[in-house]
Amino acid sequence: MTPQTINAYYSPQTNQITFPAAILQPPFFDPHADPAVNYGAIGSVIGHEIGHGFDDQGRRFDATGRLRDWWTPQSAERFTALTTRLGEQYSAFEGIPGLHVNGQLTMGENIGDLGGVEMAYAAYRRYVAQHGEPAAIDGLTGDQRFFLAFAQTWRTNIRPDALRQRLLTDPHSPPEFRVNGVVRNVDAWYRAFNIQPGDKLYLPPEQRVHIW
Ligand SMILES: [Zn+2]
Repeated sequence: MTPQTINAYYSPQTNQITFPAAILQPPFFDPHADPAVNYGAIGSVIGHEIGHGFDDQGRRFDATGRLRDWWTPQSAERFTALTTRLGEQYSAFEGIPGLHVNGQLTMGENIGDLGGVEMAYAAYRRYVAQHGEPAAIDGLTGDQRFFLAFAQTWRTNIRPDALRQRLLTDPHSPPEFRVNGVVRNVDAWYRAFNIQPGDKLYLPPEQRVHIW
């Protein structure tokens, strides 16, 4: 990647995450922005990249980058049970009429997205524990701003034909589902917006997937 590239990556061989300069600007990061916004936006991206170290591919590498199975069979079994459920959730999303997200193809990215938001939110709450609960801004609480900032990083426009190609070939879920597929598993999102049974993205607690 060049410094001008808006992207980020994790390398399992070097156990390294990389953020080019271009992603360290709004809407991902703004040194003058409210902390809730930065944790929700670039924090979730950083968490996503760390999460790749522990997704269905990254977990096969050890801390030195060797391809070595370092997990207990019990951990692997429980991980697979959870990720299978996560994959089923994503496979239920219909990107365009008649064409669904492929939960297997997008597995690693979805694991990174979910773990990334969970990590960023945990980090944000640690920040709040030290600095105090922030005041509302424009009527929005800190937690609400965290989740809105996360969602706003995925604002996208795409033509149906391009979306069709991506649904079939891109290991990333379409941006809409990179947001909706994540927050419905995060308990803090339900509290932040008072999401109730009957709301469109509501999942009963026992159906929410918590991997990490
Ligand atoms: Zn990724």
